[in-house]
Amino acid sequence: MQYVSTRNNHPPVNASRAIALGMVPEGGLFVPETVPDLGFLPTGSESYGSVAERILPPLLTDFPAPEVASCIARAYNAASFDTDEIVNVVPLDEGRSVMELWHGPTAAFKDVALQIMPHLLGTAKKIIGDRSHTVILVATSGDTGKAALEGFRNCDGIAIIVFYPHGGVSEVQKLQMTTTDGTNTRVIGVKGNFDECQTEVKRLLGSSSLRERYREKGFEFSSANSINWGRLCPQIAYYFSSYGKLVGRGTIAAGDKVNFCIPTGNFGNILAGYYAMRMGLPIDKLICASNANKVLADFFAAGLYDSNRPFSRTVSPSMDILISSNLERFLYEVTGHDAGAAAGWSRSLAGTGAFRVDEPTREAMGRFIVPGWVDEQEVLATIGATFRQTGYVLDTHTAVAAALGRRVALPDGRHTIIASTASPFKFGTAVLKGMTGEVVDDEFRAIDRISTLSGMPVHRALLQLRQRQERHTRVIEKNMMQDTLVELMQDIAG
Ligand SMILES: *Cc1c(COP(=O)(O)O)cnc(C)c1O
Repeated sequence: MQYVSTRNNHPPVNASRAIALGMVPEGGLFVPETVPDLGFLPTGSESYGSVAERILPPLLTDFPAPEVASCIARAYNAASFDTDEIVNVVPLDEGRSVMELWHGPTAAFKDVALQIMPHLLGTAKKIIGDRSHTVILVATSGDTGKAALEGFRNCDGIAIIVFYPHGGVSEVQKLQMTTTDGTNTRVIGVKGNFDECQTEVKRLLGSSSLRERYREKGFEFSSANSINWGRLCPQIAYYFSSYGKLVGRGTIAAGDKVNFCIPTGNFGNILAGYYAMRMGLPIDKLICASNANKVLADFFAAGLYDSNRPFSRTVSPSMDILISSNLERFLYEVTGHDAGAAAGWSRSLAGTGAFRVDEPTREAMGRFIVPGWVDEQEVLATIGATFRQTGYVLDTHTAVAAALGRRVALPDGRHTIIASTASPFKFGTAVLKGMTGEVVDDEFRAIDRISTLSGMPVHRALLQLRQRQERHTRVIEKNMMQDTLVELMQDIAG
């Protein structure tokens, strides 16, 4: 199976090439030319790895099957995840379950993809005979950075450079990144917001002069953001795995349709859900949950995507995004691979910060996307009410989805699975405020207090974080990202 560009500006490539490139060098994203319908539904008795072994090979057709199995085995094991299940599914209340995606090494859902992605990238390079060194450039709203650093730390032939918005991530997120060791890691704070970091990283990745300059020295750039198919495709597996668990428990019957409610930022997670649906998972609605940066909610409601609006810093910072990269893939899919339309909208977004889709496209999306957004007060109130009623502690991102999952009136009474994207300990002060109204300004005191109140052990990613030494303290002006990259490359490439 081949991968094509959403802007029809690149010849079709194999999966290995798509993953090695990260994104289409000329701009645009790789998507599968056809989406395989698997005819497979798990029944709950399978391990997470064996579900992934059904999902990934049909998407990575030029990877030898034993190699894919080896990538899966190296990623999804007890050394990296604190549960053998890899992804736990817990009942929340009548009609709703929580899919806990945060049992990996950094306490956020990004681990599920970023634990396997370095292995997929290494395999891809082997397949295409690419002996270059890879420099991974990451822009992060907080969680991708650490998850990518953990995934790629000390990987042979790979260096990783992370740019994060200075002041735009939580204290814990910042410490997780700045205390990273490993000889191949660099972490840089940027005086700007996430969108500015991401836009500049995409521009650097697309710059042919930069590419050529370092190609001569044996270096290629790639991306660990969800613009890379190698990051996105592993996420499809947890939709299937969670469904199987509910079948196994008798919560739903095999073949029943379910809804997934996903706290959304860059539109990667929910897009993986969409591909799961296309691959045969019985999904009725994908509920797209936004925080106060509700550009997606407005878009799905009215067809106008308009990023020209104030940027809010919320208690769910990983969703503080106004430009959702993966939407381009989704629009390309729902228009039946209309590259002209996708390219036009992307041009408009880059030029004016906005675009409007036609009515048939809006209607096509509305058949399975249910949009909505939740303000700051409701996020905290939902954490409090859920804790009091069920004893379950939601993180601030999951709470956005939980609030919306309850509020949207879906007439059919179908089971709704809420994607839980971070451990509550990762956003301790806000979570504690939601739970009890207590205001503490120290993240670590909040973490201890949440553990006492809930009886939950502190996530192992956050133990001892306070004692670790900060190794990456550099902060730069936002117009200095390219110069800084060039300087770091002198160190990396000699
Ligand atoms: C990244 C992230 C999100 C948003 O996921 P997307 O795939 O970018 O839509 C939501 N919650 C948390 C905790 C995250 O880290």
